[in-house]
Amino acid sequence: MIDRRIMLASLASLLSLAAFRWLRASPAQAAEKFEVEKSDAEWRAQLTPQQYDILRKQGTERPGSSPLLNEHRKGIFACAGCDLPLFSSETKFESGTGWPSFWAPIRDAVATNVDRSYGITRVEVHCAKCGGHLGHVFPDGPQPTGERYCMNGVALQFEAGGN
Ligand SMILES: [Zn+2]
Repeated sequence: MIDRRIMLASLASLLSLAAFRWLRASPAQAAEKFEVEKSDAEWRAQLTPQQYDILRKQGTERPGSSPLLNEHRKGIFACAGCDLPLFSSETKFESGTGWPSFWAPIRDAVATNVDRSYGITRVEVHCAKCGGHLGHVFPDGPQPTGERYCMNGVALQFEAGGN
């Protein structure tokens, strides 16, 4: 009888330890680590109010408002937060949505999260280096990937030339 009680007690403590670890581990796993990390005040000081709203607060620019919609030169679209090259002009296409659109990012330049805001499930896209929000990716893009990276032009800066 005593053995059984001891066994149950130790099993309970093992389970509570496991639960405790799980509770502690999940928020840490959800929070990604980025090479460039700054305080809210530092981002506010560095970015324009519109860049801050989109990159740091998951905002969305008004469709048709980005000058990058009409950018057709060869070059690189880099992160407005940390300068990481994100998209090549080679992958830009006319989606007709009013947001700069690409069918593929530069390798390893972006990361994604599932975004369930507004009761819709979408795939959120952010910069892999600073975590800045860029836009969303949808599975209705052109070949060769079939993906449509729908980006906020405010989150990007164009650098002509090269590639
Ligand atoms: Zn960045």
